[in-house]
Amino acid sequence: MSPKQLEDMYDAVVVGAGAAGLSATLGLLNSPEMEDLRAQGLEPKVLVVSKLQPLRSHTGSAEGGIAASLGNVDDDDWHWHYYDTVKGGDWLVDQDAALLLAQHAPETVINLERQGVAFSRTDEGRIAQRRFGGHTKNFGGEPAKRAAYAADRVGHQILHTLWQQCVAAGVEFAEEWYVTDLALTDDRSRVAGVVAYDTHTGKTHAVRAHNVLLATGGAGRLFHTTSNSWDLTGDGMALALAAGLQLEDAEFVQFHPTGLAHTGILLSEASRAEGGILRNADGEAFMARYAPEHKDLAARDVVSRSIMAEIDAGRGVADPKDPDGPKDCVWLDLTGVDEAHMLAVLPQVVETVKQYANLDPAKDWVPIKPTAHYTMGGIPVTTEGEVYQWADGARHIVAGLFAAGECSCVSVHGANRLGGNSLLDACLFGTRAGSSMAKRIADDPVDGPMADPDIDGTLEQAVDAVESTRQAELQPLLAGPAEPQDEVAPHDDNPYALMAELGGVMERAAAVRCDAASLAEAMAALRDDLSPRAQALTAHEKTAAFNQEVTAIWETRHLIALAEAVLTASDARHESRGSLKRTDFPERDDECFLAHSMTDGDGTVAWQPVRIVDMPPQKREY
Ligand SMILES: Cc1cc2nc3c(=O)[nH]c(=O)nc-3n(C[C@H](O)[C@H](O)[C@H](O)COP(=O)(O)OP(=O)(O)OC[C@H]3O[C@@H](n4cnc5c(N)ncnc54)[C@H](O)[C@@H]3O)c2cc1C
Repeated sequence: MSPKQLEDMYDAVVVGAGAAGLSATLGLLNSPEMEDLRAQGLEPKVLVVSKLQPLRSHTGSAEGGIAASLGNVDDDDWHWHYYDTVKGGDWLVDQDAALLLAQHAPETVINLERQGVAFSRTDEGRIAQRRFGGHTKNFGGEPAKRAAYAADRVGHQILHTLWQQCVAAGVEFAEEWYVTDLALTDDRSRVAGVVAYDTHTGKTHAVRAHNVLLATGGAGRLFHTTSNSWDLTGDGMALALAAGLQLEDAEFVQFHPTGLAHTGILLSEASRAEGGILRNADGEAFMARYAPEHKDLAARDVVSRSIMAEIDAGRGVADPKDPDGPKDCVWLDLTGVDEAHMLAVLPQVVETVKQYANLDPAKDWVPIKPTAHYTMGGIPVTTEGEVYQWADGARHIVAGLFAAGECSCVSVHGANRLGGNSLLDACLFGTRAGSSMAKRIADDPVDGPMADPDIDGTLEQAVDAVESTRQAELQPLLAGPAEPQDEVAPHDDNPYALMAELGGVMERAAAVRCDAASLAEAMAALRDDLSPRAQALTAHEKTAAFNQEVTAIWETRHLIALAEAVLTASDARHESRGSLKRTDFPERDDECFLAHSMTDGDGTVAWQPVRIVDMPPQKREY
């Protein structure tokens, strides 16, 4: 659905309708401040813009669970969740944020349940919980059952529930509207709104707002092998870069150990939690050598690196579909798991293996390899969801601009995220960001008596100027492909081919491990080849309405801008930590790099110290 008519000015515009965007919208609407506002006869003007129909957001693909120390099947304690999160992130986590994450996780899960999420149950009728990598009891002791789950479809449950609550609250959605620009005031101190392209009509719109929240999800499409859906092109992060803002810890991209061979489709960590074992070409359960205590359920970066080490040592296997192909996989052995239990708790894993690999996980070993899964870094935010810039040794908040979910970085994941902590981050910090927006709206509602026409005029001008530039760009974009003799943009160049090339370049340079030479080679490919070609792209079809190639062109440009930031930040960090394995700097270096990289679109990297509360860095072993 599209809005029949846009408001001249919104109280809040939320970009993205996954767990983070919808949680923020509900956090805003259900806040005490908005109740007061309604009591005064004022209704907040809120619009949720999404390039997808909301129920297609990637949140719906989340499989394994959401982490919280509910203690339903185990004694558990939020202090242990806090410790595991900091250790899991290789001590790059901001501990004030991780503390909030662990403390408020139980109420977040219970709140989801009360809104309608149908979690799986224990025999006593409590929310069931399973093991997940890196989650332990007693500060690193034995494994903890901390992930609340709904079979292996928890994201589907959460997304549908939050969306239904939004529909019940009468939220207005602009569906299949693609946000092309983030507009700030000239001095970048305040947000002014966004420019959005209605894909149904091919028209651009200036959407002016006192508050904007970016919740556009991750960027797995940077890599060829990824568990992420096609839409995860890092738009929000690229919009922030284009508006002159920084990204935090862009170098940390998580590779999930178990992507189904040559598709990248995720086989949830739940498959190992339920008893699946990784084996090399010799049939050896090799994780015992790399992580003697936690074995297959060590943190994801550790397991992915171990798989690559086995492959590098010649103990990899070929995909049975391509027996003569490269030996770049290992086995996931689920044959020891009771078949009926497997069907009950891992139905999606079973279905995926049968459909895409033509194998039966109850009888056959399944070929897997690490797959790009999650961006730990993103748009820097405070624990209240406010976007800030790091300059002169301090955080400077961009008034009215918020971010939440995978596109943001409140830094609860540091250098490596633990399973189940992402849905929790999106729901918990999304809700908090919504409450923060509500407080700002209560102080200055667009329809309130205190509304200042001069300020609104400044915001209006800022958005309208960006919208005119974008509209002017549309005409050449729709003018048809370049002449065949044009060398920069060959006639047959198209955004899909460019995205595929980019995925290959990034995979060779930075998947699981990298060094200065691989990063430099990828940067040269981006700057000398992919980037100019992306700028020269035009759509092959001249009609504006429903022309998906237009948005694909913007997505390609976004991915390339983001890839540059990822490579720049990876190059600047001369150490190995969490998901970043620099083979030329193999050790962690707390003296120089216990700090967040803050990278801008010009390639400048500043460093922000990590916020330590009560856990000084320790050696990280599983
Ligand atoms: C296969 C898979 C399994 C996972 N399993 C788990 C799990 O078990 N537990 C866990 O904690 N985490 C899991 N994760 C991670 C977790 O699901 C995500 O990190 C989380 O759902 C992200 O939520 P989000 O709201 O930030 O983004 P998303 O759900 O990705 O939503 C992004 C939204 O932004 C919109 N959008 C993007 N760009 C634009 C634009 N330019 N204009 C307008 N709208 C835009 C999209 O339309 C969409 O609505 C999994 C991820 C994957 C890929």
